[in-house]
Amino acid sequence: VTMRVAVVGAGVSGLTAIKCCLDEGLKVTCFERSQDIGGLWRYTENIEDGRPSLYTSVVSNTSKEMSAFSDFPYPEDFPVFLPHARLLEYLRRYAERFALRQRIQLETTVLSVRKRPDFATTGQWDVVTEAGGKRTSHVFDAVMVCSGNFWEPSLPLHAFPGIEKFQGKYFHSRQYKHPDVFQGKRVLVVGMGNSGVDIAVEASRVAAKVTLSTGQGAWVISRVFDHGYPWDMVFNTRFMSLLRNNLPGPLARGLISHRVNQWFNHENYGLQPKKRYFSEPVLNDDLPSYIITGKITIKPGVKEFKENSVVFYSCPEEEPIDIVVFCTGYNVSFPFLEEADVKVENKHASLYKYVFPTHLQRPTLAVLGLIKPLGAIMPVIEMQARWVTRVFKGRRLMPVSLHPIFSNSLRFGLLFDEVLKTDCLVYSDELASFIGAKPNVLALLFSDPKLAFTIFFGPCTPYQFRLRGPGRWDGARQAIFTQWDRMLKPMRTRVTSRSSSVWPSLLTVFGFLLLVAAVVFGF
Ligand code: FAD
Ligand code: NAP
Repeated sequence: VTMRVAVVGAGVSGLTAIKCCLDEGLKVTCFERSQDIGGLWRYTENIEDGRPSLYTSVVSNTSKEMSAFSDFPYPEDFPVFLPHARLLEYLRRYAERFALRQRIQLETTVLSVRKRPDFATTGQWDVVTEAGGKRTSHVFDAVMVCSGNFWEPSLPLHAFPGIEKFQGKYFHSRQYKHPDVFQGKRVLVVGMGNSGVDIAVEASRVAAKVTLSTGQGAWVISRVFDHGYPWDMVFNTRFMSLLRNNLPGPLARGLISHRVNQWFNHENYGLQPKKRYFSEPVLNDDLPSYIITGKITIKPGVKEFKENSVVFYSCPEEEPIDIVVFCTGYNVSFPFLEEADVKVENKHASLYKYVFPTHLQRPTLAVLGLIKPLGAIMPVIEMQARWVTRVFKGRRLMPVSLHPIFSNSLRFGLLFDEVLKTDCLVYSDELASFIGAKPNVLALLFSDPKLAFTIFFGPCTPYQFRLRGPGRWDGARQAIFTQWDRMLKPMRTRVTSRSSSVWPSLLTVFGFLLLVAAVVFGF
């Protein structure tokens, strides 16, 4: 009997979940509460309740080669970093190419997902949906939760004494669409995540003054990295990951902070992070130049609000402020699930490999996308979906540790905020090894050395996970060899002739020796 799977949501996670179900021959139905696919990336002018929200200027902070689904590279002519409309266009093409739309019921909200009374034996779920005011009950063999984590604002007003006295305007970044609201105003942006920095930069183009308050600080890196290449194509290679994860912690952190301080010294700019580990970086190409030209002033955390001003920690003087944007992030919640099934406490969820609840008798509920990798999330979600659909199908059973007998004694409780900022390569490799899709660099070194070389030193693009195993894609090898061409294509609109140099071939020889050394010394 074909297994019936429900997918909740048709954003990045939902679309790839449907695709993976179809690849495994599962019968899939996706419920999407809004009018169209694309989730977060479908920008709307209105701030709709329960929908993720974007501001007009959002550009992806991960490059198209690193953000692609593993068997569907971005078109050559798409820009390297994607304005939201282009990313949505890519998702639409993906849906078209793999005939996903037929599986999606739009304007249908999932109200509840509950274990059936015979769950212990069947693993089945009762799913109640609502469309056009009409409720329907369904029975599914498995459920993939793809409802996103960026739609319920976290606005901890209690952490800001005096906010009730404040006479100016304040709102959460989810409410933000255009910089017009800041025209001629003295603006305070609270929180230095990607939203905070994007909004501060935009505001400073029209505001009278912009202050950015940060409690923790952050590493800021530019999309445009060494020699103008995209940061993630330089940073996320197997070679770099090997160094990052095998050098002693303080040395690895020291090297990373040395590297990120090469663009500008974070301490001099007031941005030095307090955290000792390498936390999620902020991607912004403009912030340092806006600080050095006085358009943005960095301040510590907010101590107190007064009627028309703000006091910061360790700063005696008050700062007059007209408008405050709280860029304080989002809460994770699953209102349609029972709390006992996926318990989220203070942004922490207890999930095996960030996916499967640890205490259910059957592994038929999976949460996708609850991760914050240092890099693109889309291919990581796709890898989760490939693993999950194999587990559903029973082809690859759970690791023994997931069996309920063991789950209580093992601590899989994961901290969403800390652990989920994971090294995406290590994590993807691990899931890929569960399904037999992890590239074998050592074997390739003998059978296809050029490919082994490119995989090891080149960017870890998602096509690497389609070279072998279930879902193998014949185009994967070619996609890997053409990744730099696709990246360069949209920029090479004025091509000049170049003189040849002996350096590339010398570098290749040196790289080959390094690769052999890495293999010999235990990769
Ligand atoms: P969403 O896109 O939020 O989609 C969830 C879908 O589920 C929505 O369509 C929603 O309507 C639907 N839904 C929710 N509840 C229900 C329900 N009860 N019933 C039916 N449907 C429901 N990641 C990167 O890798 N690179 C980037 O450059 C990048 N930039 C980002 C920029 C911003 C501003 C933000 C906020 C995030 C960014 N991310 C980026 C992370 C981003 O979360 C992922 O790229 C991706 O969009 C996550 O997709 P998703 O499908 O998990 O969630
Ligand atoms: P976020 O990354 O969760 O950052 C929230 C920030 O708010 C924290 O860094 C912290 O900053 C501050 N904060 C949190 N709790 C606080 C509290 N109790 N009191 C005071 N300050 C508090 O949220 P986000 O910036 O909205 O980003 C959400 C996700 O969207 C991220 O994954 C991000 O990468 C993504 N995003 C991407 C883009 C893009 O691609 N262009 C744009 C926007 C967002 P301080 O320590 O500095 O105070």
